[in-house]
Amino acid sequence: MLNVKQLPVLNDNYVYLIIDEITQTTACVDPAISGPVIETLEDENLSLDFILNTHHHLDHVGANLELKKKYGCKIIGSERDSSRIPGIDIKLNEGDFFEIGESKCKIFDVSGHTEGHIAFYFKKENLIFCGDTLFSLGCGRLFEGTPLQMVQSLLKIRSLPDNTKIYCAHEYTLNNANFALSLDPSNKKLKEKVQEIKIKRSRNVPTIPCFLGDEKNFNPFLMFDNRDYLKRIGLENLNNEESFKIIREMKDKF
Ligand code: ZN
Ligand code: FE
Repeated sequence: MLNVKQLPVLNDNYVYLIIDEITQTTACVDPAISGPVIETLEDENLSLDFILNTHHHLDHVGANLELKKKYGCKIIGSERDSSRIPGIDIKLNEGDFFEIGESKCKIFDVSGHTEGHIAFYFKKENLIFCGDTLFSLGCGRLFEGTPLQMVQSLLKIRSLPDNTKIYCAHEYTLNNANFALSLDPSNKKLKEKVQEIKIKRSRNVPTIPCFLGDEKNFNPFLMFDNRDYLKRIGLENLNNEESFKIIREMKDKF
């Protein structure tokens, strides 16, 4: 069993502290800053064994060196991106496995937002830490990768079971929801979903984790091959890569 503690930090980042309940092994996913991580560990009387980095951006690796110095934890990241992950100790690639105590995760290369972006998939626990690749109702901007790379990365995530919990690194859901609704304004189910999100956010309740099943139904960036949807939003006769590219460009300007 894996206990996941969700720490909202900075404007809209989520840092996750994960604790393997059998062995009390701990890992921190994408520590943007150290304060709330240290506080939570001290509250629980725990040390930090690992840092898991999804990618090199500062709002994901900002506290790597400080936490490593304090706890002597090992830092895990993508081999492809190892020159940009501060303090990296263990370099992983697509298909590798890594164990946090008795909880095992599989590494997916989900490049597109950056080159060498990885995700950590815990199959038994039905959850994935996907950084800035997939967001609730959105996806990461293409800073380094191509539309084709991002489509391939999103397909890896989309192929997981519907009840997979998506632990992404940002609370961007409300803005993403408004964009999704602007594309498909007469979609009744989407309207209800947006209403739900508005209520949650007005009460400062996180919309993350979300379930992959919902994302398959509502996330515009997972519907690049859904012909009915593309027709409704005025995009026809395009391949997956082209329709994804156009939806991404529209969101960049939204
Ligand atoms: Zn990023
Ligand atoms: Fe980020």
